[in-house]
Amino acid sequence: MIRFEQVSKIYPGGQKALSGVNFHLKKGEMAFLTGHSGAGKSTLLKLISVIERANAGRVHINGHDIAKVPPSQVPYLRRDIGIIFQNHQLLMDRSVHENVALPLVIEGFSQAEINKRVSGALDMVGLHGKEKHNPIMLSGGEQQRVGIARAIVNKPPLILADEPTGNLDPKLSMDIMKLFELLNDAGSSVLIATHDLGLIARMKYRTLTLKHGRMLYAEEHS
Ligand code: ADP
Ligand code: ADP
Repeated sequence: MIRFEQVSKIYPGGQKALSGVNFHLKKGEMAFLTGHSGAGKSTLLKLISVIERANAGRVHINGHDIAKVPPSQVPYLRRDIGIIFQNHQLLMDRSVHENVALPLVIEGFSQAEINKRVSGALDMVGLHGKEKHNPIMLSGGEQQRVGIARAIVNKPPLILADEPTGNLDPKLSMDIMKLFELLNDAGSSVLIATHDLGLIARMKYRTLTLKHGRMLYAEEHS
C-alpha cells in the first residue's frame, strides 16, 4: 500500500525533515508512526498524500510511483486516501451531514447516494441521529468522529491520521483508536502518527519510529 525507498525531504529553507527513510505498510495493515515533535511525522504523511514531494528516493502509493504521477492526476490519487487531522477543520456553520457529505459533493455523487453513504459513515463512528446537529453543539470527541466520518465517507483504501487524539482525554482517545481498528477490520490500511506512547503500548500494532528524520526499527519488519 505504501512503500518508501531511501526517501529524503529537505524544505526550501534548507530544513532537513527526512533522510533516507525506508518502510513498507502492507495492504490491510494498521501501524503507528511515532517520534518527538519535529522528527518528521507530518512530513512523512504529507509525502504520502502528495501535499509535499520528496527530494530523493521513491514513494509508492497503491502501486503508483508518486514521482511519475503528473500534478493533474494528484486529486484522483488523493481520493483513495482519507486524512484525519488533530484539529478536524470542520465547517462550524454547516450541519454534521453537510460536513461529512463534502467529499462526495465534490466528486459529484447523486443526492440519494450521498444520503446513503453519509448515513453509513455516521453509523460507523457512532453518530447515528446527529445528522442535523451543528458541530459546535457536539463534544470534542464527537467532533473528532465527524472528522473521521468525513475522511472515510468515500471508503478510501488508505487512512492517514495526524495526532488524531491530541486534544482528547485517555478514554476518548482509546475510543477513537477502537474506531481505527474497526476501519482496519473493514479492509482499510491505516497509518496513525501520534506522540501518545501510552496509547500505543495498549495496542498490538507495529510502531514505526522517526528520530531526527531517520526511521528506526522499521527494516526488520518490512
Ligand atoms: P507537529 O509537531 O504537531 O507535527 P509542527 O509544529 O511540527 O506540528 O508543525 C505544524 C505545521 O507547521 C505543519 O504543517 C508543519 O509542516 C509546519 N511547519 C513546521 N515547521 C515549520 C517551519 N520551520 N517552517 C514552516 N512551516 C513549518
Ligand atoms: P513532526 O510532525 O514529527 O513534528 P514535521 O514533519 O512537522 O515533524 O517537521 C520535521 C522538520 O521539518 C522540523 O524540523 C520542522 O521544523 C521542519 N518543517 C516542517 N514543515 C516545514 C515547512 N513547511 N517548511 C520548513 N520546514 C518545515
